[in-house]
Amino acid sequence: MNIHEYQAKALLKGFGAPVAEGVAIFSADEAEAAAKSLPGPLYVVKSQIHAGGRGKGKFKELGPDAKGGVRLAFSIDEAKAHAAEMLGNTLVTKQTGEAGKQVNRLYIEDGADIERELYLSILVDRTVGQVAFVVSTEGGMDIEAVAEETPEKIITVAIDPEAGVTAADLAKLNGALELTGEAAADGEKLFPILYKAFVEKDMALLEVNPLIVMKDGRLRVLDAKVSFDNNALFRHDDIVALRDLTEEDAKEIEASKYDLAYVALDGNIGCMVNGAGLAMATMDIIKLYGQEPANFLDVGGGATKEKVTAAFKIITADPAVKGILVNIFGGIMKCDVIAEGVVAAVKEVGLKVPLVVRLEGTNVALGKKIINESGLDVIAADDLDDAAQKIVNAVKGS
Ligand code: GDP
Ligand code: MG
Repeated sequence: MNIHEYQAKALLKGFGAPVAEGVAIFSADEAEAAAKSLPGPLYVVKSQIHAGGRGKGKFKELGPDAKGGVRLAFSIDEAKAHAAEMLGNTLVTKQTGEAGKQVNRLYIEDGADIERELYLSILVDRTVGQVAFVVSTEGGMDIEAVAEETPEKIITVAIDPEAGVTAADLAKLNGALELTGEAAADGEKLFPILYKAFVEKDMALLEVNPLIVMKDGRLRVLDAKVSFDNNALFRHDDIVALRDLTEEDAKEIEASKYDLAYVALDGNIGCMVNGAGLAMATMDIIKLYGQEPANFLDVGGGATKEKVTAAFKIITADPAVKGILVNIFGGIMKCDVIAEGVVAAVKEVGLKVPLVVRLEGTNVALGKKIINESGLDVIAADDLDDAAQKIVNAVKGS
């Protein structure tokens, strides 16, 4: 789950991180009061969407010469004018895709005088099995480009979970970011704060780009992007309350209600599979035969008929889906439950595209019988390879 920058900053502030004063607004008439409550004379008006690259982004409705999604304002009137121009419009950035995202919230912040822009993130480094800091002196810009062109400028410091952030780690981080004097002292306070927030709140990613050194020599978190481990959300009601459903894919929201592992993709073959590994293999083999999957969907081990029905409905509701492949290897999951779910869903919503079903494993005979006796127009397949070829051919033919 992702949250907005202003929410992430409030959260980090609660842990003691240095962030600017700011006010989130939902309509342009709130801009004046928001700006007036800040010290000025520099204000920053920031689009709140779940995507980065806002500063360099472009609003669809405004011409190519209009300013981007993060704007400096040198007076309250200018802040008001920016807010009126930005709210409600669609911001297209490197991370939103061409469709862009509608800006429904703005964050008006006290502006900072920037000396240097640094990069800092915390993530779970699976290669070492530890939480790690990733830092670079080359912040503010596209970190992917830095990774590609000058990888030596990106430094990773993994943290021993028993010891936490040690004095040696702090020295490494300060060294890598070339922090001295007051900024180094700020770093020694900030890094353990960020680590604590990451661990306590079960974050999956905490990215501060940029972390700035201000003209007065102090550090400040200027941008913050946080995502959380969905599997741990059950113990963080305060985080769940921050969820903004307007930022999420409608199909993924529906899937999350049924606890389905579903990710929407760009292709046109809908997949219903049990087990993440088999789901990945199914997507691969669809690609191998020249088509693209419309989704990743793992219905899981102990799925009920209701869950399978919901899953099938989510797949068929996607207008991009031109064919459906059900690929089940019944171990814990029983083939007859899948068959019943598919039949129930088709009875409810109809079937307008070809459907290939491959069932194997527990209760396979019963599952096939349910499908055969349902009168559904199903293309039966024997194995994964056969199933993939059949759905690809059916989609090509239609
Ligand atoms: P992003 O483009 O979505 O990553 O949004 P950021 O919050 O990182 O802002 C983009 C850029 O705007 C930063 O890299 C800064 O150069 C600039 N910026 C943001 N806030 C301030 C500020 O308070 N003062 C100044 N001078 N520049 C800012
Ligand atoms: Mg940024």
